[in-house]
Amino acid sequence: MSEDKLNRRTDTLAFAERSSGGIWDAVILGAGAAGLMAGIVAARRGKRVLILDHARTAGEKIRISGGGRCNFTNLNASVKNYLSGNPRFCISALKAYTPVDFLKLVDSHGIGWHEKTVGQLFCDESARDIVTMLLAELDEAGGRLQMGTEIKGIEHRDGLFHVATGRGSEKARALVVATGGKSIPKMGATGLGYDIARQFGLEVLPTRAGLVPLTFSDSQKSFAAGLAGLSVDAEVRFGKVMFREGLLFTHRGLSGPSILQISSYWQEGNPVTINLAPGTNCLESLMAARKSNPKQDVATSLSEILPKRLAKAIIEREGIKGHIAEQGDKLLRKLDEAVHRWQVIPVGTEGYRTAEVTLGGVDTKALSSKTMQANDVPGLYFIGEVVDVTGQLGGYNFQWAWASGAAAGRAL
Ligand SMILES: Cc1cc2nc3c(=O)[nH]c(=O)nc-3n(C[C@H](O)[C@H](O)[C@H](O)COP(=O)(O)OP(=O)(O)OC[C@H]3O[C@@H](n4cnc5c(N)ncnc54)[C@H](O)[C@@H]3O)c2cc1C
Repeated sequence: MSEDKLNRRTDTLAFAERSSGGIWDAVILGAGAAGLMAGIVAARRGKRVLILDHARTAGEKIRISGGGRCNFTNLNASVKNYLSGNPRFCISALKAYTPVDFLKLVDSHGIGWHEKTVGQLFCDESARDIVTMLLAELDEAGGRLQMGTEIKGIEHRDGLFHVATGRGSEKARALVVATGGKSIPKMGATGLGYDIARQFGLEVLPTRAGLVPLTFSDSQKSFAAGLAGLSVDAEVRFGKVMFREGLLFTHRGLSGPSILQISSYWQEGNPVTINLAPGTNCLESLMAARKSNPKQDVATSLSEILPKRLAKAIIEREGIKGHIAEQGDKLLRKLDEAVHRWQVIPVGTEGYRTAEVTLGGVDTKALSSKTMQANDVPGLYFIGEVVDVTGQLGGYNFQWAWASGAAAGRAL
């Protein structure tokens, strides 16, 4: 059945079931990766589950992820790939629902996939295949989905969660909050999950945009703007953290996988150190050029190890003129520094508008790492990105969504 038909079918069934006045075993807020997985796992166990979401269609972030191919997991996912105030919190859920478990599900639906960079698995065809698979699983397990539903308020009384919505009220023994982070508000991201956490006395750690391009000041932009669209293999460092992946110059600053990765660790006001030509020795190369080709202009010598456009921009920025033979050792060392240890202090990030994830969120100290249930509020669960667990780039965020969703789905 198509994604659209599945959306409509589960929606209609949800209305039918609700009008019978029943109490759900669980209402899940958010039909993203985590909410759908929790719904599937719980419904397979015979639980009466209703997923509510204000968006028109389910799994919108899955659909746009991985450039439309969804990097749906990473075979090497482990605790070291996640940022959290409580770094070991994710271990239990990740062990109980592994990348191979998700891969088995993908294979059982005959969805073609391939491994891109080591461990990163993408759909061969379309990210939509993952959404269709999840909706089909939910439908088959008997879980219900109601899209286009505004959540107006939550009350907890008489042992039940009362969810007031724009389409009536729902009662449930358990409430699972899977409303994601603040990234890409245009796609329906809201802070609802954080508000619910606070309402029930759970702490919410400060949030900020992660896996996001870094932006430059006007003077820095004048250097980078002419390079917009150029990408190089780079090593990008902040403190003890280093990533070697592609770096892309943009009109606003820097992007590309290495920059998105470091953005989650970067702290405002501090420099990021970039090696624009890892695996090469700029100083040696320039000294050799000075001997073998003294009349060569410096930009041409530098373009032995860097793209021409970038070499030229660096030479201009450093105010260097003339032939390579005219440049002393001190100047060549300065160039070596500019290539291998370029220190740049971004003015900020592009923010939630383009961020792939939100760092921070519901403090894990308030949750059980096995079930995702709030320690002090039986029946209340938080899963996925709303929780203070954020993956690096490379399929780790979806793996967290599947694993935390499955943990709650098994427990409620
Ligand atoms: C452009 C982009 C590309 C990405 N690519 C990848 C990738 O390839 N691999 C990877 O691992 N991760 C990727 N991510 C990250 C990944 O999409 C998220 O980490 C993941 O979707 C989080 O799942 P979730 O279920 O917690 O939240 P979400 O998927 O964000 O789902 C939350 C749901 O809650 C609903 N909701 C929110 N507020 C309300 C409200 N007030 N009322 C009712 N419903 C509400 C939303 O409509 C949404 O359906 C990408 C993210 C972006 C933005």
